Amino acid sequence: MPLYEYLCEDCEGIFEAVRPMKQAEEPEPCPVCDTEGQRLMPSTFQAFIVRGGYPRRIPDRGNFWHLGKEVSYLPKKARPGEHPQLPSERRKDPLTRQDRVEMVEQKVTERRVKRDERKAAHARKMEVRNSRKIRKVPKGKFDV
Ligand SMILES: [Zn+2]
Repeated sequence: MPLYEYLCEDCEGIFEAVRPMKQAEEPEPCPVCDTEGQRLMPSTFQAFIVRGGYPRRIPDRGNFWHLGKEVSYLPKKARPGEHPQLPSERRKDPLTRQDRVEMVEQKVTERRVKRDERKAAHARKMEVRNSRKIRKVPKGKFDV
C-alpha cells in the first residue's frame, strides 16, 4: 500500500498514513489532535520542519497539542491527562480535610450496612436449613 501525506488544518501538522489507493482521498485523523486531516497532494506540498517529533507546516506557530487543546509547551513532568496550562478537574475542586473524613465515614457506614445485610441473609438461610432438617434421633442413643 502506498504512503500518503495529510495536513491537519487545526494544528498545522503534517503526517503520513499508509492506505490502500482507494481510500487515499478520505480524511485521516491527526495523530496529535485527532482532527481529520485532508490529503496533501504532492503538487501542493509545502516545506515543513520537525518539532517535538512531529512534522509541522511552515510557518510554524510554535504550538503543541495536548488532549486536543493548544498549549505552548509540552510538559516534562505532569500527571497523566494533565497539563499545567489546562484547567484541571483535580485543581478546580480540591477535596478538603472535611470532605475526606466524610468520604471515609460514608465508606465505613456502607461497609457496615453490607456486612449486616450479609449476616442477616446468612441467618435466614441457616434458619430455613434448620427448619427443613428432619431431626432423626438415633434409636437407642437417648433411651433411658
Ligand atoms: Zn492536528
